Amino acid sequence: MAEFKIAVIPGDGIGPEIMEQGLAVLKKVSEKYGHTFHTTKLPAGGNAIDSMGECLPQSTVEECLKSDAVMLGAVGGPKWDNVPGNQRPERALLGLRSALGLFANLRPAIMHKALAEACPLKKEIVSGGMDILIVRELTGGIYFGERGMRQGRYGTEAYDVEAYSEMEIRRIAKVGFEAAQKRHGRLCCVDKANVLESSRLWRKILTEMAPDYPDVTLSFLYVDNAAMQLIHDPNQFDVIVTNNIFGDILSDEASIITGSIGMLPSASLSAGTLGMYEPIHGSAPDIAGKDLANPIATILSVAMMLRYSLGLTGEADAIEAAVTKVLEAGVRTVDIAAGAKSVGTCEMGRLICEAI
Ligand code: NAD
Repeated sequence: MAEFKIAVIPGDGIGPEIMEQGLAVLKKVSEKYGHTFHTTKLPAGGNAIDSMGECLPQSTVEECLKSDAVMLGAVGGPKWDNVPGNQRPERALLGLRSALGLFANLRPAIMHKALAEACPLKKEIVSGGMDILIVRELTGGIYFGERGMRQGRYGTEAYDVEAYSEMEIRRIAKVGFEAAQKRHGRLCCVDKANVLESSRLWRKILTEMAPDYPDVTLSFLYVDNAAMQLIHDPNQFDVIVTNNIFGDILSDEASIITGSIGMLPSASLSAGTLGMYEPIHGSAPDIAGKDLANPIATILSVAMMLRYSLGLTGEADAIEAAVTKVLEAGVRTVDIAAGAKSVGTCEMGRLICEAI
């Protein structure tokens, strides 16, 4: 029995609805296993712009830093579309990642056998389901490198620099190797080492680190080939580790293979145990307030939080098993129902809690 402090950022759009279900699951875990979760709801995103004049109030950051983990719904929406770029609700995410030092993004792309119909690939490719973990570097590379405009020979030129230090590569590679150790022992580093100097440094460092992980088989793949292989034979992958931009693109590709964006959780981890856990989807303003949102991505994010930040592996397994059980019983929200009968957000949450 343990006690934890959890910062909760419901956010905008469907954020508060799906978070309610995530918290219901946490309450069920607390009742069943005797742990105490002290939760504090915090503003960030569009709601924070409305109530406090900024998308990420300092008080929210400070509360997150004092917590064991952060749960986030989703932020943004059309109401704030005309807010200047550097104050938009989505900036809260970048602010949180940098303030909490969240350099590793873990996105499992898991397709439940029960949802094979929702997969856009041929049945025989994913007949046994799919289970990949993408480990994406989150705070370096081209999204954070030097950028600018200059006058060149043929007019204005724009540039964005991809730069990685040895330290940045080592720490994300360590997350990748350790994740592979806990799964099926295969780590694939996706890069573009035939062209990019930065990729060649990734290869050098991962190759140097590999002997420390004798139980992990390390391989390398060029990103263009990886994009192809993901739809040709996704199950050849166990854990993929890659840079910020390749991870951004490949994790979206992998997510669509699983059928619905409403199913996929994510974790953003720091060098310590603090992590932020959120569904990969956005605030879905088109369905907000209608009891239509699928809460499973959020509920599975709670499972990731228990596993990666709180060390409650058995409890995380219990949540994942409950989700599988409910799906196998044929319960669907509208996004995964393929036109058949469906239940609402609250009922899906209730049934999963019941199955824990
Ligand atoms: P979105 O992910 O919100 O929605 C895309 C589509 O998927 C919509 O049709 C939506 O109804 C559906 N969808 C999303 N989540 C669902 C769920 N749980 N259950 C059922 N259907 C679901 O992406 P978008 O429409 O491009 O963005 C909407 C807003 O969210 C924008 O303001 C965007 O900037 C923001 N956004 C926030 C995050 C985040 O908070 N991490 C991520 C992406 C987008």
